[in-house]
Amino acid sequence: MLCQTCYEEIKPEDAMAKTPHCKPCHSAAMRARTARLKEEGICVTCGQVPALDGMVRCKKCTWRSYASKRLGSTKKWEQLRDLWLAQDKKCALTGRPVDIGNHLSVDHILPVSKYPELSGDIDNIQIVHYHVNTAKWDLPHSEFVQLCREVVEHNDS
Ligand SMILES: [Zn+2]
Ligand SMILES: [Zn+2]
Repeated sequence: MLCQTCYEEIKPEDAMAKTPHCKPCHSAAMRARTARLKEEGICVTCGQVPALDGMVRCKKCTWRSYASKRLGSTKKWEQLRDLWLAQDKKCALTGRPVDIGNHLSVDHILPVSKYPELSGDIDNIQIVHYHVNTAKWDLPHSEFVQLCREVVEHNDS
């Protein structure tokens, strides 16, 4: 089998994509594709629709990317979006409005560092403001709320 770009011999198990390509040629082609799509303002994942303002992906692909990173499967993106809708498009901890491309972050209520078995469980997920999630880090929900209370009390006194 030959790479269809450089015509070097490749093992079938190393062939990338439908037309056989060696790994270096495949990577180069993917980089070129991403660069071209970014320049054109098209979603770099699906290559089908415009990317969101200031982002490299469209709305659906961004949801899918969040689902993949936070729940381990792109297929769970609709569960995430439905959760966001159920939360009235607001942060579960502050009530601030959040949206894809606008401070939305996906939080594990109980951190996966301590509860790896809950990593793919939508019931352990809440949609929060990006800054809130950065502050919460790997604290369980209840400990974070307590921490916030201490911050407020300390600063008000
Ligand atoms: Zn090649
Ligand atoms: Zn897309």
